[in-house]
Amino acid sequence: MNTNAPTLRQFQDRFPTEEACLDHLFQVRYGTDFACPKCDRPAKYSRVKARRAYQCNWCANQLYPTAGTPFDRTRTSLRDWFYVMFLFTTTRNGVAAKRVQREIGVTYKTAWRMCDQIRSYMAALDSDDPIGGEGEVVQIDETFIGGKGKRHNMRANKTVVIGMMENGGELVTRVVASTRKNDLLPQVQAFVLPGTEVHTDESSSYRTLHNLGFTHKKVNHSIQEYVGADGRTVNALEGFWGMLKRGIYGTHVSVSAKHFRSIWASIAGTCGGCRT
Ligand SMILES: [Zn+2]
Repeated sequence: MNTNAPTLRQFQDRFPTEEACLDHLFQVRYGTDFACPKCDRPAKYSRVKARRAYQCNWCANQLYPTAGTPFDRTRTSLRDWFYVMFLFTTTRNGVAAKRVQREIGVTYKTAWRMCDQIRSYMAALDSDDPIGGEGEVVQIDETFIGGKGKRHNMRANKTVVIGMMENGGELVTRVVASTRKNDLLPQVQAFVLPGTEVHTDESSSYRTLHNLGFTHKKVNHSIQEYVGADGRTVNALEGFWGMLKRGIYGTHVSVSAKHFRSIWASIAGTCGGCRT
């Protein structure tokens, strides 16, 4: 494994065009092997010209991989966003807006705003404050990160990460030893305040949550993209950061497991069960 930070050259080779950036977001968010959320057939999506969208070849459903991300709300190109994120992950002492202004040729205001959003994202990753509480909803899920292998062996050698996300709020992720109850529930107790309405999948590990002071609702995930059982994740930024951090630290877990809250929220929003 490459334990050095990616070089600018590697970065440019990986993301030479706007197209490549968007493809990356699409791949990371939906994967290559998923069922179309609308028609449920094995998805075959093609790029829609002149839009940041992909369309199902069967039913014409459109997916926007930047939906719900900061990339969606600005006119700044994905390449510029990716480049500034690259700067952040490869610069030890932070990135000055002046430098961004100069290097990608945007106004100081735009440069400042980009840096600010990236910084808040990074800060959110490091937060350890408990989430939830009375009247709040927290979604909890696990994902498998890293490792290689064919489908039949897909969970071998992978790291298990539990993610807890308050609807519209903070996210906490932790590496755990397994998906067993004894490994998951202490994390929930450590980071989710009692009284919270907690949503999980059908996993039996969560069966006793209601005994711990939580209101527990189970969802039946008909679309599994964000579960990431094959190690893939649905999170555009997660994948992007993961790739860069893998390069920087030679290990991946703590960062590639992080879910960017708005993406998670937008994915969760497509799962009917999560809102019940
Ligand atoms: Zn379809």
